[in-house]
Amino acid sequence: MDLTDQIKTMVKEWGADLCGVAALDGAEAEIRGLYGDRFDGLRRGVSFGVYLPKRVVDEVLEHPTHTYLAYYDVANGLINQIGLRLNNYLMKMGFEAYPVPASQRLGAKDRAVFSHRMAASLAGLGWIGKSCALVTEEVGPRLRLGTVLTDAPLKSDAPKADGCGECRLCTEICPAHAIKGKNFDPKEPLEERFDFQRCDAFLTETRQTFGKRICGRCVAVCRYGKKKEAEKNDG
Ligand code: SF4
Ligand code: SF4
Repeated sequence: MDLTDQIKTMVKEWGADLCGVAALDGAEAEIRGLYGDRFDGLRRGVSFGVYLPKRVVDEVLEHPTHTYLAYYDVANGLINQIGLRLNNYLMKMGFEAYPVPASQRLGAKDRAVFSHRMAASLAGLGWIGKSCALVTEEVGPRLRLGTVLTDAPLKSDAPKADGCGECRLCTEICPAHAIKGKNFDPKEPLEERFDFQRCDAFLTETRQTFGKRICGRCVAVCRYGKKKEAEKNDG
């Protein structure tokens, strides 16, 4: 087993449900534009995902729940543990590495120190959906993401094609009208597809009524990971 396969196997043994490797060389200009020279030389991103329980996510379509918040935190904790273990494994092998902590924000704005969605889409875990979340074939956007950047010479995976098509479920369900209904285009800034202020204001409103900033309807409604295979192809 080569180093890439060994790492993917370990990451899954540690609790991840999906794992892939992103080639970051092609996104070098974008990464420099966003983060300066902080991650120079780290040409691979090991991207991994931990599934959220589907039925727990389904419930937030109706109303916010503390169960969703609880598993959001559990998944983020697991992501951080896997990231630290992988970072230390790579360090002991003599490689440079940087574990990106799970982003803590409930909403589509990625507040991690490096975009997990960028790494996950380049690593072929899924594509960036109209909701701006990473959407996988397996569970749609019902997962949390982790990333470890490294200079280890890992084999990269191929990105996946956008699977949103004409679907507008997340756009239509969004109570804040934050999702503009446009397919992801790497050349466009996030603001073209998503109004962060609207989502943020809705989450703040929810804190006043529910006590916590929570929504997740755009995640719960996504047809991927929800319907049978045959029904996914109608979009
Ligand atoms: S559905 Fe909720 S979480 Fe998703 S973008 Fe709209 S307000 Fe934000
Ligand atoms: S609900 Fe539809 S448009 Fe939105 S992310 Fe999922 S597949 Fe894409």
